[in-house]
Amino acid sequence: MASATPQAWPRAALWQRLADTTSAGQAFDLAVIGGGATGLGVALDATVRGFKVLLADSHDFAEGTSSRATKLAHGGVRYLAQGDIGLVREALHERGAMLANAPHVAQRLGFVMPAYQWWERGFYGLGLKAYDALSGSQGLGGTRWLSAQQAQAQLPGLRRQGPQGVLQGGVMYWDGQFDDARLALLLARTALARGALVLNHAPVTALLHEHGQVRGLVLRDGETGAEHRVAARCVVNATGVWVDGVRALDQPTEAGAAGAAGAAPQTPLVAPSQGVHLVVDRAFLPGSQALLVPKTADGRVLFAVPWYGKTVLGTTDTPRKDLAREPEPMAAEVDFILREAGRYLARAPQRADVRSVWVGLRPLVKPQAVAAAAATGAAAGASTQALSREHTVLISASGLVTVTGGKWTTYRAMAEDVLQQAMTRGLLPPRPGGATARLSLLGAAPGRPLAEPPGEHIYGSEAAALRALPGAERWLWRDAESGRGGLSEAMVRFAARYELARTVGDVLARRSRVLFLDAAAAAELAASVADILTEELGRAVDTTAFTALAAKYRRLP
Ligand SMILES: Cc1cc2nc3c(=O)[nH]c(=O)nc-3n(C[C@H](O)[C@H](O)[C@H](O)COP(=O)(O)OP(=O)(O)OC[C@H]3O[C@@H](n4cnc5c(N)ncnc54)[C@H](O)[C@@H]3O)c2cc1C
Repeated sequence: MASATPQAWPRAALWQRLADTTSAGQAFDLAVIGGGATGLGVALDATVRGFKVLLADSHDFAEGTSSRATKLAHGGVRYLAQGDIGLVREALHERGAMLANAPHVAQRLGFVMPAYQWWERGFYGLGLKAYDALSGSQGLGGTRWLSAQQAQAQLPGLRRQGPQGVLQGGVMYWDGQFDDARLALLLARTALARGALVLNHAPVTALLHEHGQVRGLVLRDGETGAEHRVAARCVVNATGVWVDGVRALDQPTEAGAAGAAGAAPQTPLVAPSQGVHLVVDRAFLPGSQALLVPKTADGRVLFAVPWYGKTVLGTTDTPRKDLAREPEPMAAEVDFILREAGRYLARAPQRADVRSVWVGLRPLVKPQAVAAAAATGAAAGASTQALSREHTVLISASGLVTVTGGKWTTYRAMAEDVLQQAMTRGLLPPRPGGATARLSLLGAAPGRPLAEPPGEHIYGSEAAALRALPGAERWLWRDAESGRGGLSEAMVRFAARYELARTVGDVLARRSRVLFLDAAAAAELAASVADILTEELGRAVDTTAFTALAAKYRRLP
């Protein structure tokens, strides 16, 4: 494997680039608000097409929903059951692209669906054969029927006596698994390396309008408080569940004026739905395959997935009214996950076994709201379900392009759709796309299974550069069960120099995933990480906010 030399991105230099652009009176072709999967995908696609691109996230890249997924690159067996063939086929195609472009952080994973009733093996097996067929040339391996003995050999943690009787067998199929936050970082860094200006900790506070059209935005440096008025010919609102807040800024006033938040009420586009994950030790699901329960007692889907040396259990789908940055799990959700996992795992996990709990908000789109917006002159795609899991692109009368919904797996296809619609509307000049379908992200090199504890392997071809940094052998944290992998001093330095990390949370939640794997361990690491960051960034880095956050990830309701 050829080793790659990462590029350093000092924050001051990036903001200087912004200041130089604005003081020269230059405009960006495209300004993207939001640095989750959706916004980063749009920024990279546009950059590869040769556009001059700015992306800003108010917090860190993927700090919203995009670091809290179940981490499955999948077509969605559940959507197949609902007959959503188009969504499944597209996602399976995109799954192939993700695994090819970032093999160090996205890989195939075997899933076992256990059967405790005589008809389940055949019924689910046929459905999964159809899933294979839909993936076409992007298939990751054939579905096969398992005897009871084979099912237990694949999933040593599986109960022999299940909820509806004795284990009859199972079905094994293949899907993808990835590290969501690290994939987001790779998108950000690949876009930077190709010329985009990509900023974290940079909230957009207003939109600029000229003659009723969006012509830029106001960006605040989240560290210094300095405000910048940035001109852009096209602005994309990719703020996930927060899109309605940015849509509220889209109120044209007089020429050149900034739109004020909440100037006029709009029908909210997004109905957030929360999903909880619990992390327990690998001992609950030994082996390297995942468990899929196709139908829980109340008809939902439940996963138990080996990830970075632990087991991720989830998830739920609970409507929520607020848009909290750190939504809290509900007691009923935690009880549901533990109860259902205990019906299938030989060792039933208890509350005391949970090492981390994290919650994400799905941006489900209300088709009625899309219709209402279309009635006011916005261009929009149609949808028929009560709440759509497909993505929606909406272009307001003033030209603000809003994109939300969809899945992590389909971020690339969503980006192509956004650019196509922006070009069709004349917001950007036409330029051919498709190049991101086979675009290796930084460090791309075949990696070890993501079921193993995190280690140097997730740095791909940049691992040699990581090892060359001070502290490559100084392990701050080791995965306790395996004694391998973990977080080294060099990884923290790498995060600060090459991966735009600014806070303890940036390191422990997203560059490394310790917070998601073991919140107590993450809390203990905070001071050491802050010391290394202080040295690397040349300014005091404090632990207060992270310590409070880690306590949240440890606490069950
Ligand atoms: C529980 C759960 C499990 C999931 N599991 C999977 C899975 O296994 N596989 C899969 O494919 N998909 C999965 N998904 C879906 C997937 O995670 C989301 O579709 C995707 O992450 C949404 O990305 P996004 O960029 O649209 O939103 P986000 O990741 O939330 O990004 C929006 C960004 O906008 C920023 N922002 C907000 N306001 C402003 C502002 N004013 N200025 C600047 N920035 C701003 C936020 O800080 C945030 O980073 C899951 C979702 C949930 C909730």
